[in-house]
Amino acid sequence: MAQLGGQPIFIMREGTERTRGKDAMSNNIAAAKVIAEAIRTSLGPRGMDKMLVDQFGDVVITNDGATILKEIDVQHPAAKMMVEVAKTQDAEVGDGTTTSVILAGELLKRAEKLLEQKIHPTVITEGFRKAADKAIEILDKMSIQSGIDDEPGLKNCAMTCMSSKIVSESKEKLAQLCMEAIIAIAEKNDEGKWVADIDKVQIQKKEGESVDETSLIKGIILDKEVVSPGMPKFVKDAKILLLQSAIEIEKTEFDAKLQITSPEQIQQFLDEEERMLRNMVSKIENSGAKVVICQKGIDDMAQHFLSKAEIMVVRRVKKSDIEKLSKATGGMIFTNLDDITEDSLGWAGLVEERKIMNDSWIFIEECKDPKAVVILIRGGTELIVDEADRAIHDALCVIRDVVEDQKIVGGSGAPELETAIQLREFASTLGGREQLAVEIFADSLDIVPKTLAENAGLDQIDKLMQLRAAHQKGNVFAGINLDTGEIINNMMEVGVVEPTAVKIQAIRSAVEAASMILRIDDVIAGVKSAMPDMPPGGMGGMGGGMPPGMGGMGGGMPPGMM
Ligand code: ADP
Ligand code: MG
Repeated sequence: MAQLGGQPIFIMREGTERTRGKDAMSNNIAAAKVIAEAIRTSLGPRGMDKMLVDQFGDVVITNDGATILKEIDVQHPAAKMMVEVAKTQDAEVGDGTTTSVILAGELLKRAEKLLEQKIHPTVITEGFRKAADKAIEILDKMSIQSGIDDEPGLKNCAMTCMSSKIVSESKEKLAQLCMEAIIAIAEKNDEGKWVADIDKVQIQKKEGESVDETSLIKGIILDKEVVSPGMPKFVKDAKILLLQSAIEIEKTEFDAKLQITSPEQIQQFLDEEERMLRNMVSKIENSGAKVVICQKGIDDMAQHFLSKAEIMVVRRVKKSDIEKLSKATGGMIFTNLDDITEDSLGWAGLVEERKIMNDSWIFIEECKDPKAVVILIRGGTELIVDEADRAIHDALCVIRDVVEDQKIVGGSGAPELETAIQLREFASTLGGREQLAVEIFADSLDIVPKTLAENAGLDQIDKLMQLRAAHQKGNVFAGINLDTGEIINNMMEVGVVEPTAVKIQAIRSAVEAASMILRIDDVIAGVKSAMPDMPPGGMGGMGGGMPPGMGGMGGGMPPGMM
């Protein structure tokens, strides 16, 4: 509200809440810290899991940072930015979500101390940016060369990534499958670089048996059955017709009335229908197709003729699956039976209906393009299958990261600690206030080994001192054995390995979020007309502390999180 000649002028609509300067900043930092605090106990192989219950009572049990944040309904705008960090991290590299959020929280916590010393936020963010650039350079330099030929490296990355998941007992088996899957679908692009598109790995889930029964199928599977019991369930050397239209007599678009005056006419009518269907089936038969995969329905009479012709038919298959099949079998997708030619049919070595538990699945294996693969996830309960799915997704991502980026580092907080040490040396060359910002950046990186130690029930300070001593001796990948507390001079030798890309992205996303939050000095929350049922002063909570939605988080965890 401004004052002009004694007359108040309202600039913002009534009810708008505004927090400025220090208040705004400390609110935002507090909210962001709460988020980091909520997920820090889940970091690492000894981290705890979270059980998330939504308002309908559906339960998710997970240890995955991105999933936890996705499931909880965060309201505070700054807290939402932290959730974005996890999302970016997940989308870019698929792992390191917890690390990035904890790191962002730590950066903000330490930045707050500098703010109290009257250091301007832009000096801090500028220092963070410099520190991040340097950190990335340091990480790059310490990395070890890897890539698609380095099978132990790929597998170890996948195992490390899965060691913090609920399904970690099966990590060896799953890591092997994921590695084989990525190697199968990886391709060299025009510039001669390896690329692996994880969308090419189809994931199917089926409860039952155990996670160890999860399998890799070179081909495609459909959650469908053969239309009619009279049809073959097993076709070798199969020519496959991919059809987008129904095998039925088309209905007219408008209502037509037919005057039938004698019983013969009915018969004629039915005969004509039969003749048309027979005609359709014989077109398929003549093309040489032994398997028909159809996106739409198939008339009963047509099914009968197809059975007689010993053609295997699967109907109502998803469009996306038909498209995948087209790639895998090399077949064209037809909409008109008149267009079919023999050489545009797809091919697979084997098409078979198999029963898993009580459901039938169609397996299309030994395809023309061997790049089609499926991971069929099994597991005792739905919760386990879903968590296995998330673990496999992360593992596929890290293997892809290594195949594409070709660099790995040791894990267990070693790269963060080493980067911190080298950053402190770099800071001393800067001087001035910027130096302070780079120094707190380095200190923030220590949160990773510290939290890993804490979650394993070890003494943080002790371990940090021992680790620093080991690193000072030149062991860049010295880390903690989280089971025994012992310091290991090279984590790589014990198979704890991570993609450099994950570490670099965690730093990038954390710095981005922290800087964005630090640059805000004014929070203007209008009463949105789009939400008329918002209680008066609903967003007003921001002025005093946290908005209502954050109420439960103040104590540590949001409601519904145990
Ligand atoms: P994020 O979501 O950040 O990936 P995780 O819970 O997966 O979080 O934990 C990752 C951290 O745990 C990494 O720093 C990694 O090096 C460490 N880690 C994973 N497995 C081991 C292990 N066996 N020993 C020590 N540290 C490990
Ligand atoms: Mg992880």
